[in-house]
Amino acid sequence: MSAPTLKAPRGTYDVLGEQAEARATLEARAKSLLAGAGYERIETPAFEPTELFARGVGESTDIVRKEMFTFDDGGGRSLTLRPEGTAPVCRAYVEHGMHKRRQPVKLWYLSSFFRHERAQAGRYRQFWQVGAEALGSDDPAVDAESIALLAALLSQMGVREVRLRLSSLGSADSRAEYRERLQDYLRAHEQSLSEDVRSRIEQNPLRAFDADHAATRRVMHDAPRLLDHLSDDDTAHFAQVRELLDEACVRYEIDSTLVRGLDYYTRTVFEFTSDALGAQSGVGGGGRYDGLVQLLGGHPTPGMGWAAGVERMMLAGDGIAAGASPVDVFVALRSDGARRAAFGLLEAARSAGLHAQMELAGRSLKGQLGHADALGARYVAIVEDGATVLKDMQDGGQERIATDTVVHAVLRGLRAL
Ligand code: AMP
Repeated sequence: MSAPTLKAPRGTYDVLGEQAEARATLEARAKSLLAGAGYERIETPAFEPTELFARGVGESTDIVRKEMFTFDDGGGRSLTLRPEGTAPVCRAYVEHGMHKRRQPVKLWYLSSFFRHERAQAGRYRQFWQVGAEALGSDDPAVDAESIALLAALLSQMGVREVRLRLSSLGSADSRAEYRERLQDYLRAHEQSLSEDVRSRIEQNPLRAFDADHAATRRVMHDAPRLLDHLSDDDTAHFAQVRELLDEACVRYEIDSTLVRGLDYYTRTVFEFTSDALGAQSGVGGGGRYDGLVQLLGGHPTPGMGWAAGVERMMLAGDGIAAGASPVDVFVALRSDGARRAAFGLLEAARSAGLHAQMELAGRSLKGQLGHADALGARYVAIVEDGATVLKDMQDGGQERIATDTVVHAVLRGLRAL
């Protein structure tokens, strides 16, 4: 009799062949984007003291209550396979005295995480996240830059039908006041709430906004909203974040019911979803966590960051051809006389970090557009005498602009969702 075969545990999977290539491409793109924005790579251990997550993520969260793989190290210490990356990064920031460096300290990671969840499409027990954290500044520009970077990553990964929901949870003070108001409201409607929500009125009332239970949802429809009870400082901070996102052409919807499943968030919170995904539509999210470093024993230090799921980016992405690099802009020539200007534009685009290609085989204009399409170019810049027609290959729109403004226009266009 042959030995019984063994399978990878439920909720885990092997990465083979093309998948491995696609992941390597994702990693290279994340690295180029984040390193280019001044983020340094960090690797933390796969397991940490359980207390890090109990304290950092919060005792009343789903993650800590029921999703952690926790074990004894053999010497009576409780360890946990990391379920998320922010608390470990903050632990490392404190442990290595990073407050002495120039602030904000910007760190990024691509690592595997572990949660004991019911496995289904897009939800695994070992999964990978790309994450970015900026510690040491509460400037709203940090929030906007961080969100814009994730928008850019999703766009570069070809993630389809993306939506960004944005809100503010205020700082600890405005939240404490609001919490009591919400608790009063929940107690007044206790008989309609689900068992789970009722049991968390004291510890974590905000999670009631996340409930699936129909009667609870009806109650929450009229519940007081934190966004309407922010302090003046928090309101001003949120307004500036929104202004900067508008400036960067990042589109968002304000969603005052957005609560993230982790306790550490303050002020800005956001979540990107993709309608191309099924029930598990979250592709990435994050926010500001101004109290977390202090909670972990460090000096008071503001922080802001996000994590995006690798599997979900691949599922909702338009398929990353192994090794193929996206063409941001294809430089086409209306006539031979435009060759010098076209070559100058090609070089300028590359200096700005764009993936640019130029017509090199003397095709007709129609042939050049067909070639650009086959390469999957996002923009085609048709250089003419004195100006350039910039064509957006995604929506077919085009405009005639000065050749020296083309690079800027492409950069702006790539950033917009
Ligand atoms: P969270 O820390 O829960 O906000 O998760 C951030 C992102 O990680 C989510 O938007 C998902 O893309 C991804 N993610 C979280 N949990 C899982 C899981 N169990 N399996 C796959 N991806 C996940």
